[in-house]
Amino acid sequence: MLNEHMHGGTMGGVEELYKEVILDHFKSPKNKGTLASFNVKTEGTNPLCGDEVVLTAQVDGTRLLDIRVSGHGCAISQASASMMTELVKEKPVDDIKKLAALFKKMLGVDEQSSIPGSLEDLGDAVALEGVKKYPVRIKCALLPWITLLQALDERAKAG
Ligand code: ZN
Repeated sequence: MLNEHMHGGTMGGVEELYKEVILDHFKSPKNKGTLASFNVKTEGTNPLCGDEVVLTAQVDGTRLLDIRVSGHGCAISQASASMMTELVKEKPVDDIKKLAALFKKMLGVDEQSSIPGSLEDLGDAVALEGVKKYPVRIKCALLPWITLLQALDERAKAG
């Protein structure tokens, strides 16, 4: 699986992005799989790259109690999902939305100066900052976050 993605045609020219921390998360993803008990499930795809993430979460209204992500795709998308789960697990939904905004800002998307917090708040996910130089790759890094925001919205609507 790793070899397939490392040497795949879609990986050309971005080897320098594959920092050790990204590869660590790709090879040994955190919170991988499907929760036995969950109240929201969302799926996100990035057709440009073939990335897919399937996210299950248990949200009690104001707090994300637990999360698992399964899926497949390039190292950036899968590592980003792993890094994200570490950051958001057991966090209040409001804090997660701030982290998502901060992550987007880091990648040059939604650059609002009013977003509080520093990049240090993003933990291992700061390793993905270099991705902003590669517009096609930004969608890979954002995929898990967009899928999570969708899950939180669906959960909020469900009440
Ligand atoms: Zn990708």
